[in-house]
Amino acid sequence: MFEALGNKLQDILDRVGRESKLTDTQVKAAMREIRMALLEADVNFTVAKDFVARVSEKAVGQDVLGSLNAGQTIVKMVHDELIETLGGQAAQPTLKTEGNVWFMVGLQGAGKTTSTGKLAAHYKAKGRRVLLVAADTQRPAARDQLEVLANQVGVPVLKVADGETPQQTRARLEAHLKEDFRDLVIVDTAGRLQIDAALMDQLADLQSQLQPSETLLVVDAMTGQEALNVAQTFDARVNLSGLIITKMDGDARGGAALSARSVTGKPIYFSGTSEKLSGLEPFYPDRVAGRILG
Ligand code: GDP
Repeated sequence: MFEALGNKLQDILDRVGRESKLTDTQVKAAMREIRMALLEADVNFTVAKDFVARVSEKAVGQDVLGSLNAGQTIVKMVHDELIETLGGQAAQPTLKTEGNVWFMVGLQGAGKTTSTGKLAAHYKAKGRRVLLVAADTQRPAARDQLEVLANQVGVPVLKVADGETPQQTRARLEAHLKEDFRDLVIVDTAGRLQIDAALMDQLADLQSQLQPSETLLVVDAMTGQEALNVAQTFDARVNLSGLIITKMDGDARGGAALSARSVTGKPIYFSGTSEKLSGLEPFYPDRVAGRILG
């Protein structure tokens, strides 16, 4: 496992002496490399620093494990800690028998509308009666884009009108649900290119009216360092319940996932793996841990 990194560490550790337990000097030398690897994978600087401190504390004095050398032992500890930090095992959003309202939030371009369509397809295939709400009044064409996706999936869509208040949206949604029962309502909310106060106010207002059971932040894996700030700000204002990491099919190594998860402590439920409606997978912490280590 991660032979290149393990061997590289072993070369470094051989220079500081071989012991049956990991020494402080060995761990320090190895952690310089680990921190570099994390930063190369675009993990936020502070997150990388905290992570390394946590593993170092556990590693010093640890027995060198059976068939592994010191370098491999450290790589295994780092890998295990990465999996743990990323959430351990794949997790799923809470789904009640009915009355599920999910809020999709995120910056413009993160893949919010696309992910909304993907979730509709995913849960429709599981037998859910899905309704999409096109509430991204910010990006021109976002509502039409969602309507196209809804038609492709074969689920209805309720489009929020320009100038509609959150109260009016709630009333229209309630009226719609009386006519046409739906057990999962997924709301594509407004995004902006950057975080700003007006956007957060708008989201918080709609959230207080619709009382979503899940508020999911869509984060672009390519965002790198900025993922931490985005996740932190959204979580502080609209109290996220989970995360979706998009564009994992690209070159990004997954640092954004680690940063967003670390700073919010919220589970990552899905990865986006293509532009297509079928490009949605459960988020597997072990796979992403491997990818972060390279
Ligand atoms: P929004 O502004 O957050 O609603 O973003 P969109 O849903 O319109 O997505 C922005 C762009 O990213 C579009 O070109 C999508 O096709 C693309 N996109 C979204 N998710 C993924 C993904 O998981 N993988 C890839 N490769 N592209 C994606």
